[in-house]
This record gives sequence, structure tokens and C-alpha cells, in this order.
Amino acid sequence: MSKHAISTEQIHHPYVAPEGWDAFPVGVYKASTVLFKDTADLHKPRPRDGLSYRYGLHGTPTSYTLAARIAGLERAEQCLLVPSGLAAVTLISLGLLRPGDEVLVPDNVYGQNRYLSDGFLPQFGITRRYYDPLDAAAFAGLLSEKTKLVWLEAAGSITLEFPDLIGLLQACKAHGGVITAIDNTWGSGVAFNAFEIAPQSHPGLGVDISMQALTKYASGGADVLMGAVCTRDGQLHNRLNDAHEHLGYGLGQNDVELVLRGLPTLELRYRAQDASTRALARWMQARPEVAQVLHPALPGSPGHEYWQALSSGGAACLFSVVFKPEYSAADVDAFVDALQLFGIGYSWAGPMSLAVPYDMSRSRSLGLPYAAGRLVRFAIGLEAEADLRADLEQALNATLAKA
Ligand SMILES: *Cc1c(COP(=O)(O)O)cnc(C)c1O
Repeated sequence: MSKHAISTEQIHHPYVAPEGWDAFPVGVYKASTVLFKDTADLHKPRPRDGLSYRYGLHGTPTSYTLAARIAGLERAEQCLLVPSGLAAVTLISLGLLRPGDEVLVPDNVYGQNRYLSDGFLPQFGITRRYYDPLDAAAFAGLLSEKTKLVWLEAAGSITLEFPDLIGLLQACKAHGGVITAIDNTWGSGVAFNAFEIAPQSHPGLGVDISMQALTKYASGGADVLMGAVCTRDGQLHNRLNDAHEHLGYGLGQNDVELVLRGLPTLELRYRAQDASTRALARWMQARPEVAQVLHPALPGSPGHEYWQALSSGGAACLFSVVFKPEYSAADVDAFVDALQLFGIGYSWAGPMSLAVPYDMSRSRSLGLPYAAGRLVRFAIGLEAEADLRADLEQALNATLAKA
């Protein structure tokens, strides 16, 4: 026993593990306090550039590693991590918009972004207008001196229209002075490169900011919430980083570890889920109870040609089914309740398939891209496709099918 009492000894123990450890997983470094060598080290200016350590809130080797890997995934230069996908949305809107500014938002934007734009931003004197993501000409007419930020989402939430990304980004470029931010959770850096959306036909055309909910594919485990904001422009990154510091967005390093564990299998999972999602979407399309299946890779689905124009070939694990109008909301709820392998709940891209009925009539300002009818959004997980198909079939036959 040393000269110190047990508690002091345990906190100041001299043992240091030997150097030379090497393994595939990244160490999980956690700290609130980051120790400085001495007061001279403490007083040294420390640029907030992700290359030095100052305080646990701003990053540890574990979170810096994740940020670098997500930047790589998105083919970006910089990445800021935040505690949820929604925090990534708010970081961008709150970080970049000022009183008097206007933000343009696609009508099929992620619901929480709509609520932020409708219910929160106006308190700061920021106005928002919705646009039809399939109509780039009408969109161009909305761009004004006041427009400082344009949100994009591909495909859009729930109704999964794929926007005319090329047309929308060309309009922004022609207008000038407007920052474009995409919610890239659906593509997750796999389906297409947000910073260069069509390198063959439109070299150099891309967004300024790509954010995604790491909660979805990057994690893949349905057990963590996190978001990322990626950029290629250092000045834009600095503006966002400033807001990031003020807003106090920190991360639990155990959560960071979970996302790091998900990344090596991200592309495999994405492609496997894509394949079974398309197969199940096509199978549902052929059912007599169904009015329309919404999935960007299905011909006839809204925005299909814009998805094709990116020629990336990838699509996420989501499709929505619009049931024929003769089925009531209660009928469709009964169908969802009869599913045995599909959980009922929000989020997606985890191992378990999910189904959620939606009433879209209150979530769009510019109308719906499909005929009337109750909609169910499916998120396909990693179960065997044949089992999921059998489950859909038994639930349809038990509830909606006509004898
Ligand atoms: C889930 C999701 C988010 C928000 O992510 P959270 O981590 O749940 O806050 C944002 N955008 C899209 C498109 C999403 O699907």
C-alpha cells in the first residue's frame, strides 16, 4: 500500500497499461475533464478544429474517429456529431438562419423539421415556405433575397416522392447566395453522393450540407440515437461548429461505440434491406386491396424518373402502401394489428421490420401525390423476405381480403 489513503490511491494509481495495444475496434474514451500537462499547456490556444482536446463535451478520440468515418461515408470534408437526427436538423436551421431570413422546405419533409419550421423558427423572426419537391420550376419562383436556406430530402418522408434533385439544385445555383441542406438519412451515403449527385451528367452539382440520422442505418441496431452534419466547405463548417458549441450538443461515448460497430456492415445491410424491400413492395403492388405502392424504384411512383436520373441504383428499406379507399382507417389498423413479425413503432433501418399507419391529410400543405386512401409505411428489417411476405399475406387474408 502506498502512502495515500485508499480513495486517493485509487484515483491517482501509478499503473499505466503497457503501450503497443493494437486491435480492430476503436477504444472507448470517455471524459468530462480532459487533463492538461501543466498550466502552460492549459493556457495554450486550442483551435476548435477536431485536432485537439479541451473538454469531453467537444470530443474524445472515439467521437473524432466516428466523425472522420461519417465524413468519409458522405464523401465530405468535415462532420459534426449531435445527439439525434433531429438535433442535426435544428443545428442547421438554428445555426444558419437569422431574423428576417426565409427557409424553403419540401412539403414531404421529415415531420419534426416541419414542426420546427412551423412552430419554433417563427419565434426568431424566421419565415418558411413549403415547395413541391417534384416541381423545380415552381420552386425557382419561390427563391428570393430572403431565402438563406433550402432544405432537401430524398426520398421524402412517408410518401417517398423522390425530388427533382438536379432541377432544385440547379435553381439554387442559378439564384446564388443560398445554402442547400439535405436530410440524407434515406440515402445514408450509400444510395448516392449528396455532394456530387450526378457526376456524369452534372459534374460538381451537389448540396452544401448533408445531414443524416445515424440512428437509422449507421447504427443499424435500433439501440442508439445520433445525428451527423457533413460539409465540404471549411467556412460553412465553422459557422455550424460555432452553433454546435453554443448549443451544448454532447455525445455519450458508449453510444458512439455502438455506431462505430454498425459502420462496417452498413453497406451490406443497406443493400440486403434494399433488395428485400423492393421484392415485398412489388408483391404488395400486385395485391387487389392495394391502390398504390410508393417506392422511388417502382415505375409510376412519384419522382421515379428523378431517382433514376441519379443512376445510383440504391434505395432504402422503406415503402408505403396506399389502400383502396373502400377500406376505413379501422380496417387498415386491424391489418397492421394482425401482422406478427412487424413491430408497430417509429424509426427504421434496424433489424426488426416495422409498420405504421398514417393519416397524411394533416401533414401536407400542397396536397398528396396519390389517390385518397389510408397509408401504411413499412420499414423492412433483416428478417427473411419469405417470412415477411407470408406474414403480410396472412394479415391481408385475415382482415382486408374479400372472400
Ligand atoms: C429518424 C429521422 C430523423 C431524426 O432522427 P432521430 O435520431 O430520431 O432524431 C430525421 N430525418 C429523417 C428522414 C428520419 O428518418
